[in-house]
Amino acid sequence: MTAVDTLAPPVAPVHEHAWITDSVHATSEGRVRYVRCVGCSARRVELEASDLPPTPLTRALQ
Ligand SMILES: [Zn+2]
Repeated sequence: MTAVDTLAPPVAPVHEHAWITDSVHATSEGRVRYVRCVGCSARRVELEASDLPPTPLTRALQ
């Protein structure tokens, strides 16, 4: 175990995720956006249809 491991909390802190886009792929359903939280590195996938706000396809994944 390293010093970094001992400082990490056992459960990720609850906070408002700040998603940034890792990559985007065009599909027939719209654009699938792979996003990552800058605060805790959680990831999720969103579907961005042309005239709708992005819809999460997954819950946040650690
Ligand atoms: Zn987060």
